[in-house]
Amino acid sequence: MKFVDLHLHSRFSDGTYTPEELVAQARRCELAAIALTDHDSVEGCAATAQACAAAGIEFVAGAELTAEQDGNELHLLGYFIDMQNGRLLTQIARFQAVRQDRIREMVSRLNKLKVPLSAEAVFVLANCRAPGRPHVARALVQAGLCGNLDEAFERFLKKNRPAWVPKFKMSAGEAIDLIHQAQGVAVLAHPGLNRTDEVIPRLVEAGMDGIECFHTKHSTATSEHYLELADRFDLLVTGGSDCHGLSKGRPLIGTVKVPYQHVEQLQARAAEIKAAATPRLD
Ligand code: AMP
Ligand code: ZN
Ligand code: FE
Ligand code: FE
Repeated sequence: MKFVDLHLHSRFSDGTYTPEELVAQARRCELAAIALTDHDSVEGCAATAQACAAAGIEFVAGAELTAEQDGNELHLLGYFIDMQNGRLLTQIARFQAVRQDRIREMVSRLNKLKVPLSAEAVFVLANCRAPGRPHVARALVQAGLCGNLDEAFERFLKKNRPAWVPKFKMSAGEAIDLIHQAQGVAVLAHPGLNRTDEVIPRLVEAGMDGIECFHTKHSTATSEHYLELADRFDLLVTGGSDCHGLSKGRPLIGTVKVPYQHVEQLQARAAEIKAAATPRLD
């Protein structure tokens, strides 16, 4: 049986592994294919593709875009995206600027709470264009201002905590369109974490292609529930560990068992999307 992991983060967002380290881990887990799905970034895809080619692992170019629907934050995974797509890169640059401003705002709120963290310390630690709350949490721990990452989130960074700053988000429909026009397949990430199944029919109407049924934080019952929904709405099924490297102890890569057939189905859909976008000459 061949297995894959279609939800992985690298240093180009809030993961701790470089693309090369990630691929070395994928090899250790004997994965047949992996997808890199950094938050609002495709920057790590080229290096990951190269390392995968050298290791004989199939690579799927991906990204995890932050979006919202009816006031709920949703994450949309794009698979088999064209990494050079102009509109995708322009929009991603916009979301990265929003993320950088948000770090400054979170730090300013922390400073008002007499927590002496500097934005510079967060940017140096993050060392990427798509910084996020995990980087603020790590900087707080590194500076000895919090004991661990969970404490940083619980005290300051979780939604509605004092240093939490909402992020400007595109609508889910816009994220799906953005992925499609970059010739990618649009998949709802970890629906079991959102607990807002009522948005799914709307996303299906907006053209969403699939749903991430297998995820570290989905119980067996949750995965089965989303497999049923996938069947009902005729959606593709994906899965992955959502590994962020060594940020919280043992790396999660390869721990969610996703059969290879799901990559083949994604690829078939990607080919359909590409064919529909290419003007026919006959
Ligand atoms: P952001 O995109 O900046 O809002 O950060 C979201 C990321 O923070 C998620 O992808 C998770 O990796 C991470 N995260 C959210 N909640 C927690 C938590 N309680 N502990 C550690 N990491 C978290
Ligand atoms: Zn993350
Ligand atoms: Fe996510
Ligand atoms: Fe993720």
